[in-house]
Amino acid sequence: GKGVAVFTSGGDSQGMNAAVRACVRMGIYLGCKVFFIKEGYQGMVDGGNNIVEANWASVSGIIHRGGTVIGSARCQDFRERPGRLKAAKNLVERGITNLVVIGGDGSLTGANLFRQEWTSLLDELLQNSQITQEQRQKYPILHIAGIVGSIDNDFCGTDMTVGTDSALHRIIEAVDAIVSTAYSHQRTFIMEVMGRHCGYLSLITAVTSEADYVFIPESPPFEDWPKRLCDKLEQERQAGQRLNIIIVAEGAVDRTGKPITAEQVKKVVVDNLHQDTRITVLGHVQRGGNSSAFDRVLGCRMGAEAVLALMEATDDTEACVVSLEGNQAVRLPLMDCVLRTKAVAQAMADKNWELAVELRGKS
Ligand code: ATP
Repeated sequence: GKGVAVFTSGGDSQGMNAAVRACVRMGIYLGCKVFFIKEGYQGMVDGGNNIVEANWASVSGIIHRGGTVIGSARCQDFRERPGRLKAAKNLVERGITNLVVIGGDGSLTGANLFRQEWTSLLDELLQNSQITQEQRQKYPILHIAGIVGSIDNDFCGTDMTVGTDSALHRIIEAVDAIVSTAYSHQRTFIMEVMGRHCGYLSLITAVTSEADYVFIPESPPFEDWPKRLCDKLEQERQAGQRLNIIIVAEGAVDRTGKPITAEQVKKVVVDNLHQDTRITVLGHVQRGGNSSAFDRVLGCRMGAEAVLALMEATDDTEACVVSLEGNQAVRLPLMDCVLRTKAVAQAMADKNWELAVELRGKS
């Protein structure tokens, strides 16, 4: 059977385990030899016990678990050609020519580069007598399928990244808990929510928790935001509301591109309204805990689709990313999606928020 390896790379997210499990089982079902690569690209470069053959039972009891049981890492070695050369040798030795990479845009970019370099890496290995002529000829192409695992939902090309829904569950639980205590003491709570340069988690949190105000990177507030914020908070209190909730995305900025922090927002509220104001930084709770039913199903569907894509790939099939479009699992050209994601980041850096939103909306 064909050699398939699955690994997780970059930041972890809930639902990655469901995807790993589906890759392993779909691979075995289709008669492949399936491997785990532990600790992301680092495990691929280091080889040895980091690359192990999986069986049906080795992915039992992981579908619900958050994080990734096969480990994830950031790997400097893989960014350099000598690192990728070692990785190629480790794959060829095991007959692995199909990779499922589960990670963010960095991990997917690395995989695409690896695929493009594959022939020249193998030529170099052959020249150095690190692989045989037979191996060189047997493995002419490295096929890649990507799955986007991230709580941030910051990738162009998929409606939902694996992990976003679970993170929202964690955040909403926390906000609901805070609301009950805030209500008792008539407090204002400022919650800092993850998401890096993407405001998705914050926006959905704000809508679903009836927050009074939200700061997200894609829609920086006007210069007079302190006044607008205070007016809104006061108006709510006057209408009989006993508490105020303000959501601040970790990547929130003002119109000059300067970060807006929870501390800054607190100072505005305290100085102007003298409200009893507290900050809660949700932090890693958001990426922890068991995955939601949605992420388990999403992970399963993406994992199965990734292996099917690899098995159907021909010599000139480009690297793909499997993603969710409406309720459909689809395959899209990996680099198109990565480049669009990078274009969004660039538009945000250029303070062209309208363009960023437009580009992201195209997913
Ligand atoms: P997250 O969204 O959680 O940050 P990510 O996949 O974008 O996930 P990165 O840290 O950017 O996270 O990338 C993970 C790893 O992928 C890197 O440590 C590196 O080993 C590899 N990688 C990233 N970009 C490249 C690249 N341009 N060339 C080669 N390898 C890369």
